[in-house]
Amino acid sequence: MGNKSLTLIGLGPMGLAMVNTYLDNGYQVTVWNRTAAKAEPLVARGAVLAPTVEEALAANELVVLSLTDYDAVYAVLEPAAGSLSGKVIANLTSDTPEKAREAAAWAAKHGAKHLTGGVQVPPPLIGKPGSSTYYSGPKDVFDAHEEALKVLTEADHRGEDAGLAAMYYQAQMTIFWTSMLSFYQALALGQANGVAAQDLLPYAKMQFAMMPHFLDLYAQHVDTASYPGDVDRLAMGAASIDHVTHTHADAGVNTTLLDAVSAIFHAGMDKGFAENSFSSLIEILKKQAG
Ligand code: NDP
Repeated sequence: MGNKSLTLIGLGPMGLAMVNTYLDNGYQVTVWNRTAAKAEPLVARGAVLAPTVEEALAANELVVLSLTDYDAVYAVLEPAAGSLSGKVIANLTSDTPEKAREAAAWAAKHGAKHLTGGVQVPPPLIGKPGSSTYYSGPKDVFDAHEEALKVLTEADHRGEDAGLAAMYYQAQMTIFWTSMLSFYQALALGQANGVAAQDLLPYAKMQFAMMPHFLDLYAQHVDTASYPGDVDRLAMGAASIDHVTHTHADAGVNTTLLDAVSAIFHAGMDKGFAENSFSSLIEILKKQAG
C-alpha cells in the first residue's frame, strides 16, 4: 500500500480533474498553480495550497505535473531546481518525444527521476474506467508509483526511453487529427450537396467501424516490408483518390487536404509501386536512409 500523498502542479482543466479525483480517493494533495485562485475550490475540499513551488516540491516525493507544455514545466521548475533532489516527477504534460528526453536528463542533473506521461482522455474521463495514459521512463520508478498513477487512469508503461510515452501519444494524435479532418472533409462535401452532417453520420460511423480490418492487414504489410497487390493495387487507389479530389473540386469544396493525400499517392506511382498494395505508400512516408 503506497503513501497516499502527492503534490500536483498545474491546475488547468486537466490538473483540476486530477486533483479532484485524488481527493475523491482519499489522497492528501498539495497543489501549486501560477494562478493561485484556481486552487480555491480544491482547498475547500481539503487540498493544501503551497505558497511556493519549493514548498510544493518539499511536501511529497511524488510530484505530478499537468502544464501546457514543457516550456511551462521549465518556467515553473527551473527557479526551484534546488528542491528537486530525491523527487519523482510524473510529467503528464504533453509535448514532443525529444523534449521529454531532454526533461528526463535535466531532472536527473538535479537529482530527480522523471516519468513521461501521455494522457489519452479529456478531463471528464479522469478517474473513469476505460481511460488510459502512456508512461515511459525507469520501470522500477513506475512500479513504485503505479498505484497512485492508476487512480487517474489505467497506466500503460511502454518502455524505459523517456520519449516513448510522448511518441505513442503523438502517434495516436496523428491518427485522431487527420481522421477527424477527413470526417469534416466528407461533411463539407455533403453540405455542398445539401446533405446534413446527421444524414452522413451513420455512414461515416460504418466506415470507421470497418477500419480495424484494414489496420490489421496493412500493419502486417508494413512490418514485413511486403506490399502484395492481391487485394488492392496502388494504381486503383491513385485513380480513386483522383475521383475523390475531383468530386470535391466540382462541388466547390476546399481540396487542400485531398491534394496533399493525392500527392502522396502519385509519389508512390512515380516510384513504380503501381502494382503493389497502397500500403507501399509507407515507403514514401517513412524516414529515408542516409
Ligand atoms: P492548460 O493549458 O489549460 O493548463 C495549463 C496549466 O499550465 C495551468 O495550470 C497554467 O497555469 C499552467 N501554465 C501554462 N503556462 C505556464 C507558465 N509559463 N508558467 C506557469 N504555469 C503555466 O492545459 P490542460 O489542463 O487542458 O492540460 C494539461 C496538459 O494535459 C497539457 O499538456 C495537455 O496537452 C494535456 N492533455 C489535455 C487534455 C485535455 O483535453 N485538456 C487531454 C489530454 C492531454 P495558469 O492557471 O496560471 O494559467
